Amino acid sequence: MPSETPETLFVAHATGRLLHVRACPQLLGLDAPVVATATQVQTLGTCVWCAKELSEAGRRYFDSVEQAVRTLDPSGDAVRATQEALGDLAYDLVWVPPSYSHIAVGDKTHAVAWIGRGCVMHADGRLIDFA
Ligand SMILES: [Zn+2]
Repeated sequence: MPSETPETLFVAHATGRLLHVRACPQLLGLDAPVVATATQVQTLGTCVWCAKELSEAGRRYFDSVEQAVRTLDPSGDAVRATQEALGDLAYDLVWVPPSYSHIAVGDKTHAVAWIGRGCVMHADGRLIDFA
């Protein structure tokens, strides 16, 4: 239920026993991790790496998307393209998780878009590539 959790959660396969975020090292190398069902989200535990990734404590917040992008890529080359890909999306907060694997924008409880290297994924499923 991506719209009701701060991140979309995955399981490694249909009978996976732990919840993961997409960037989890345990999912690297899997072509198609399975989006966790609502029941799995309710009943399964979260892997240790992912729990840390999702924890509020490990996040670093930024004042703006530009500041976050420049922190991950000092050249600033992606600032304009990232802002264009976000469009007029409304958000209050900009943060990176402890892994620094991406930038998220959203409010206190929900991310509304995730910024990766050369792409922005919106919570409604739109993926905008600008690499
Ligand atoms: Zn994990």
